[in-house]
Amino acid sequence: MAKNNKPDNYYRISLQWIIVVLLAYMTIRMFADTDYIADFEAYCPFGGAMALGSFFVNNSLSCSMSEVQIFLGVALLIGIVLFSKLFCSYICPLGTFTEWLGGLGRKWKMHFTLSGMPDRGLRVFKYGLLFITFYYTAGSSELFCKEFDPYYAVFTGFGNDVVFWFALSALALLIIGSFFITQFWCKYLCPLGALFNIFTNAIMVAGVLALFIVLRLLDVEIGWQWPLAVIVSAGFIMETVRMKGWIFPSLKITRNEATCTSCLKCDKACSMAINISERPVVEHIDCHLCGDCIYACPEKGVLTINRRETRWLPAGATVALVAGGLLLASNIELPTINLKWGEQAKIEQAAVFTQSGLKNVKCYGSSMSFANQMKRVAGVLGVETFARSHTVKVFYDPEKLNDEVIKKSIFSPTRTMLKQPDPALKTVAVAEMGINKYFDSYDAFYLTQLLRQTDGVIGFTTQFGEPVHAKIYYVPAELDPQAIAKIIENPQLTYKSRGKEYTVNLTFEVVDLREQAETISLKEAVSALFRPFAQSFNKFKSYPREQLAVYELPMPQATNPSLRRQMMFMVSHLSTNDNILRFETAYTDRPVARIWFLKDSLQENHLLEALRSDTLTVHYKGGKTGKVKNLFRFERAGKIIATAEK
Ligand code: SF4
Ligand code: SF4
Repeated sequence: MAKNNKPDNYYRISLQWIIVVLLAYMTIRMFADTDYIADFEAYCPFGGAMALGSFFVNNSLSCSMSEVQIFLGVALLIGIVLFSKLFCSYICPLGTFTEWLGGLGRKWKMHFTLSGMPDRGLRVFKYGLLFITFYYTAGSSELFCKEFDPYYAVFTGFGNDVVFWFALSALALLIIGSFFITQFWCKYLCPLGALFNIFTNAIMVAGVLALFIVLRLLDVEIGWQWPLAVIVSAGFIMETVRMKGWIFPSLKITRNEATCTSCLKCDKACSMAINISERPVVEHIDCHLCGDCIYACPEKGVLTINRRETRWLPAGATVALVAGGLLLASNIELPTINLKWGEQAKIEQAAVFTQSGLKNVKCYGSSMSFANQMKRVAGVLGVETFARSHTVKVFYDPEKLNDEVIKKSIFSPTRTMLKQPDPALKTVAVAEMGINKYFDSYDAFYLTQLLRQTDGVIGFTTQFGEPVHAKIYYVPAELDPQAIAKIIENPQLTYKSRGKEYTVNLTFEVVDLREQAETISLKEAVSALFRPFAQSFNKFKSYPREQLAVYELPMPQATNPSLRRQMMFMVSHLSTNDNILRFETAYTDRPVARIWFLKDSLQENHLLEALRSDTLTVHYKGGKTGKVKNLFRFERAGKIIATAEK
């Protein structure tokens, strides 16, 4: 009998090491290059599969999910039907890690395999996790798996999306479980493993979904949670009762009983502890076609795939599936959200306005903000956004609106004071111009940076128009309109933000520049540029004026528009003290903050302490609280001023 002369599964080892090296590279680069943002979820098919579910349920993609994850998820699910659970054996970094841990446990003779009822019963946990993950992801369009995924937690350093105790428990179970028990994570806890096993029963999945669609077409009120529950429960039952798929996967390990010498080397090599030597065909649900058994078998041609010597096929299919997923992802863009409101008849007759280049539409959250902005426009019937290409489609009633009105509603006018002007300044000059290639808040930000770096510019405003209408307020002794236009047309901008330097290419084009600038008084300039902020809380209106005092103090950052969100944090922070009732900003001969409070219940020094606190206590929806850094510097103390009328 011919001997097997290829003892090492190089196809598999190579792919596993490619993934390990890639992750190591991303991690090292993240520490070495502070500009590099490593996206460890970028190629996660489980996130993609969950996001796809959310897309079908909500017409929206989960935040941070891209077509790459989704098409990889789809490719690997198709791969299960056509081939086998290839992701688990050839790509999954957790699978690789747990196999190595299991090997260590075996070496130290501390490793054992569960069988019988414990083995079958524990499998329920991965189905439970799958149901919960899908349920919450589809419900919120946020990837729930990030909260507990040990892989994501480790590579992001237990980052923001991770719930520390969930992820730490999952990590502990993964490490301890896999060391002592054969593929503990993969068999009993991995929700992706549950999803893959469900797809070995793809006919059942298709049947349940077809029934669901028919019931919905018949106007039966049934939520998506029901088919989800049926598919997950049926998947669990079919796995534990049969321990094999139904028809699928198509590729299986086959054993030639006539030439097998029963040496049991294949059984020892199997990381899933399948007793291959007792089966003519390995249909076991845990087999992920890694091929290790083929390489371990000393006899040539005894173990094959579908009775053919095609040991290269699983690795080749894995590469082809990943390449196919990536190719589809680069050519197809799915809508981030697709929301319609209003009457169905009107939606069918809707006109569509499309605009690209909206850089502020960059994820699910910003897409929802855009949708909310459009909902406020009477006659708009829906929006579709494409975050990758920063494109939006607005569906509107052509009897009420036209493209011009939609463009105007998309545009956010700006009013920005860049520098505190010298109070002695008698007049301010205003240069008026049109700016082409100016679309959204990112452009407002870039223009802000350009002009902030220019001595003599006090501020600017923009208004909708094609081109966008801009007024630049400046000190006449220092600049003129032509010099300002030249600065705006600068092809490149370099700016610093939070200690980092960024460079962006710009394409602004100044047109219709007025030769002569208008001159106005400083007071007029300030009222055109300064945006006051005011927020009342703690039942401000219920108190008579006599009980109140107003403390005014210099606040140079009150002119900075990018800190307005921070002002809401300050409001949240101050509201924790029942004696503080209102926070506002104003411009006297300089920017100031005014804090209204109960004069007999609070002392000024306590008020200053609250304003100067290093961190702000922020109250979020749902009763959660958190701490954020206080970016405001109230260096100079203030004084009580006469209360204005409420
Ligand atoms: S039976 Fe063979 S191919 Fe399947 S998991 Fe075990 S070693 Fe891998
Ligand atoms: S390794 Fe397994 S299949 Fe190959 S000869 Fe030994 S028992 Fe038979």
